[in-house]
Amino acid sequence: MTPATITVEAVAAKRGPLSVSVDAQGRTRAKLRYTVGAPISGRLMRTTLREGDRIEQGDVLARIAPPPTDARTVATVRAELAAAQARQRQAVAAQAEAASNLKLANSELARRTDLYTQGFIGTEAHETYAQAAQAATSRRDLAQAMLAAAVAADAPSSGPAAAIGPGGFSVGRPSDGRLVNGVQIPASADYDRRYPGSAWGTSFAVRHLVDILHRWREESDYDGLLRLGAMSRQRGRRITGHRSHQSGRDLDIRLPLRAGLPDKTTPTPRRVDWAAVHALVQAFAASGAVTQIFLDYQLQKRLYKVAREAGADRRTLRRLIQFPRGSAATRGLVRHSPGHDIHLHVRFACADYESECAGR
Ligand SMILES: [Zn+2]
Repeated sequence: MTPATITVEAVAAKRGPLSVSVDAQGRTRAKLRYTVGAPISGRLMRTTLREGDRIEQGDVLARIAPPPTDARTVATVRAELAAAQARQRQAVAAQAEAASNLKLANSELARRTDLYTQGFIGTEAHETYAQAAQAATSRRDLAQAMLAAAVAADAPSSGPAAAIGPGGFSVGRPSDGRLVNGVQIPASADYDRRYPGSAWGTSFAVRHLVDILHRWREESDYDGLLRLGAMSRQRGRRITGHRSHQSGRDLDIRLPLRAGLPDKTTPTPRRVDWAAVHALVQAFAASGAVTQIFLDYQLQKRLYKVAREAGADRRTLRRLIQFPRGSAATRGLVRHSPGHDIHLHVRFACADYESECAGR
């Protein structure tokens, strides 16, 4: 008797994925907790972030709306404003007096120097006048610093620029001048400082710069590196390789590279993100804090082209860029200057209270 035949299924052995799952209950707990605080009080607005979103240094996590101001707070702020305005008027008067004393001391010194070289007065007498002129210079600098500190007009009350100190001002011209109480461009995620030792400027210039670049970053879709070159040394005066940059009002900014290029690449015209340059120039122009932006005439054509493509009308183009009127034309915020072919050179204005700041 033979057993009945059984039909079986047969397949060849092969490799394949195997998944094993465990079904059990569990609890999760954050291993590291971060408490986020704010230095001001107010109401937390809705955040646009969701759990698990990737964030980077400098990103906005949430916005806080200030609480409504009551009548008493308004009265206090008004009183503070009136006091600040009185201090400012005092400082203006003190600065004017110190400046006229200095002028007097300098002309006295000049006269005595003539007498001294002609042999009419001795070294000691001459030295006395030289010291008086020196002392008058120090007193004028102090008065000017107090004036700059008393002026709140250009001090933004929010954003990264609010942290920049007052009191830094410029004396003389960018090509023959100095910086007094210079403030340093702070480190930031918005830009990179190539030469922190030569990143000093006037309070007016640095505040505007930090504010402009921060807003440019928030509004622009450019996320490459923005590299800042030299501004001025802490006390200004000459920097090797530059004719100007002496009074804390000039800053070189390397032309921003197109996406995907290594940071060390030289920004030749084809490698530059001209739309980003245009956005930068617009931001500087809109601030009203800049008198001139230098860029080689050969490159201005590219800037002109993207500006036109971005919809700038004729009037705006004329106001913004010297091109196509020739490299000697004296119109347009962006002007030709030889040697400015891989960077923009931005010149900030003198603030109203910088009475000895000179040169456009
Ligand atoms: Zn320069």
